[in-house]
Amino acid sequence: MNRYSFLLKQHIGAPAIAIVKAGDRVKRGALIAVKAPDAMGCNIHSSVSGKVTCVTSDAIEIVQENETEAKEYVKLKAETPLGLIEEAGIVGLGGAGFPTYIKLSKPLQQGGIVILNAVECEPILRHNIFMVEKKAREVIRGLQIVMEIVHADRGRIAIKEKHKEATDALKICIAGNHTGIGVCLLPDLYPMGEERALIREVQGMLLNIDQLPMEANAVVINAETAYRIFEAVEERKPFIDKDITVAGKLKGELIQVFEDVPIGTKVGSLIERAGGCSGEYGELIMGGPFTGKRTTMDSPVVKTTGGILVTETFLKGPQKIGLLVCACGADKERLLQISQDMGSEVAGIEYCKQAQHIKQAYKCENPGKCPGQVQKVLALKKAGAQALLISNCSDCTNTVMSCAPQLKLPVYHCTDGALRSVNHKLVRRLK
Ligand code: SF4
Repeated sequence: MNRYSFLLKQHIGAPAIAIVKAGDRVKRGALIAVKAPDAMGCNIHSSVSGKVTCVTSDAIEIVQENETEAKEYVKLKAETPLGLIEEAGIVGLGGAGFPTYIKLSKPLQQGGIVILNAVECEPILRHNIFMVEKKAREVIRGLQIVMEIVHADRGRIAIKEKHKEATDALKICIAGNHTGIGVCLLPDLYPMGEERALIREVQGMLLNIDQLPMEANAVVINAETAYRIFEAVEERKPFIDKDITVAGKLKGELIQVFEDVPIGTKVGSLIERAGGCSGEYGELIMGGPFTGKRTTMDSPVVKTTGGILVTETFLKGPQKIGLLVCACGADKERLLQISQDMGSEVAGIEYCKQAQHIKQAYKCENPGKCPGQVQKVLALKKAGAQALLISNCSDCTNTVMSCAPQLKLPVYHCTDGALRSVNHKLVRRLK
């Protein structure tokens, strides 16, 4: 019996309001929760056909009636592309899940640009690139739809240079068919996919931390978001399925991509599908190695879930460890969790000096461009740290590595457990 759980808050904004009750029968694609009136939010549709067994203030639980049900769905009814995107409940799939219809509700000025984020910024994650390789035509159609809605003159697909197959697929689809759309190749550094880093690389303009892409006459959308827009507008499909990378200490392949996983699927059943965990593990992460958060086997996949990672067990740390926190990497809470699991006491906590606290979160002033870390490393040494646990970007980790070893401070990175679990090179010195 497959149980699916639909959290009422899956994105930035107010939780959705359930419109079903226990005992109701729903079809795949049926609307089960609506966005709160006069608040930022999104609709939620069922990804399976079945019976509603429980509705709480947090979630709706549905038991699927036929485990091999067809992929059909209840179609959307709205009459305009923007209306279909709103009705479908699409949110941004590269970050916190900002409702897409709101992002697209203001047209750009003349000369405006839509940047499609196909960077797949986090190591290990593959589902966006996999999608671009296999469904380049649909992703580009999604980009075109967005360009039409916001009246953009140009579209640029930002992708890492190393993804040759995906880049070739894009170029073949674009050639001769899409004037105004081009590809922009980026280096393999973290966090190249951060919204302001993308605008800086593509437009040559660095926005302040409190400025939105609109101020660069730009809209940024993630590759899978573009694909889900294509589905909503061309196929009238609600946003009910999500592509997910499952990776780490698995009995099956170490990195697997599952297409169209029904939203609401339990993490545990997805790991079982990937072959199950191979032995003891360290963290179970929802998201990427840098920015993911710890999850549980019983947690459901939500609209913004991109990765499920089963990491390697923790290395034993020193008695006292210093934490260096990045605005674009693991936050203080996750570093505290890791240091505790390493058996280390925290000697001190420092933030990268470009990490600025704004609206209850940290944001980087210039993502991925190191402002220097020696001062922070020295401060942690002075506080008694015998090693460092850091979450810094590629460039800043490189800087930490240029001074910490000389001060006899071994360096651990928040991504180590995930990267070791798939035999990936660790984030340390740049070559
Ligand atoms: S410059 Fe600092 S805050 Fe910005 S991404 Fe790098 S480590 Fe993070």
